Amino acid sequence: MQCLSCNQGTMRPSMVEIRREVGERAFVASVDGQKCAACGVASFKGTDLARFEQAVAAALAASGEASGEAFRWMRKALNLRAIDVATLLAVTPETISRWETGRVTIDRGALALLALMVLDHDRGSAATMDALRARAAAKPLGKTVKIKLAP
Ligand SMILES: [Zn+2]
Repeated sequence: MQCLSCNQGTMRPSMVEIRREVGERAFVASVDGQKCAACGVASFKGTDLARFEQAVAAALAASGEASGEAFRWMRKALNLRAIDVATLLAVTPETISRWETGRVTIDRGALALLALMVLDHDRGSAATMDALRARAAAKPLGKTVKIKLAP
């Protein structure tokens, strides 16, 4: 296949490095891809990129990394908007913004919940997110609550 970047070289199978920076830390992975023999431009599958980005989020979640960049990366890996994660964590969108820009130290409990959602997602589960959604939509109990006991 001809290279679409330089229109001169041929794309050949090659190991390709995916690299993303989160704050001051770089994450790298090697995947099967293609490289142009003439200009060196590389390409790889979008599914590999998605798997890589999820793995980066899982590594950040497991490490307890508390930077704003890490928080944003994990949020985006869950496809959550700032308003969505604010609702789940019972804070304002402004607070999410302050955490992600590093103006305010991230609440440790909120960070732990976000990390749990990421680690759940990595295992194909949404247990933590479902539990937080249930709390966000909680209905207050009345003054008197009748409890039915099993006989
Ligand atoms: Zn090329």
